[in-house]
Amino acid sequence: MPNQEDASPSIKSCNNDYDQSCKKDAMPDKSKKNNTKKIQKKSFHIDIFKDWCKGCGICVAFCPKSVLGLGEDGKSEVVNKDACIGCGWCEIRCPDFAISVKPEGKINNGS
Ligand code: SF4
Ligand code: SF4
Repeated sequence: MPNQEDASPSIKSCNNDYDQSCKKDAMPDKSKKNNTKKIQKKSFHIDIFKDWCKGCGICVAFCPKSVLGLGEDGKSEVVNKDACIGCGWCEIRCPDFAISVKPEGKINNGS
């Protein structure tokens, strides 16, 4: 009866004299760079221009991540900044152009 260890393919038991690809396939290819990208979560800066906000709540209703809420002053405010995905729905839907969302680090304050 053949030894179970001898029958299983492994680097040690490879006796293929013509093609050593079985050994090559088993070895890591050091010429290939590790292309694994680190996934970084983007953060966004949300400006609410309170003077323009009329408190209609449209931005609150459309935000898919519950980032916005209506404050005690009846106007929109950021309640969960870290959840913002920068989709821009609040900006697009605000009838008074009272919200601006930009990726953090790309804020143009005019100076
Ligand atoms: S949609 Fe515009 S006006 Fe309406 S609550 Fe939001 S920011 Fe204010
Ligand atoms: S950009 Fe999108 S996720 Fe961020 S506050 Fe506006 S609607 Fe919500």
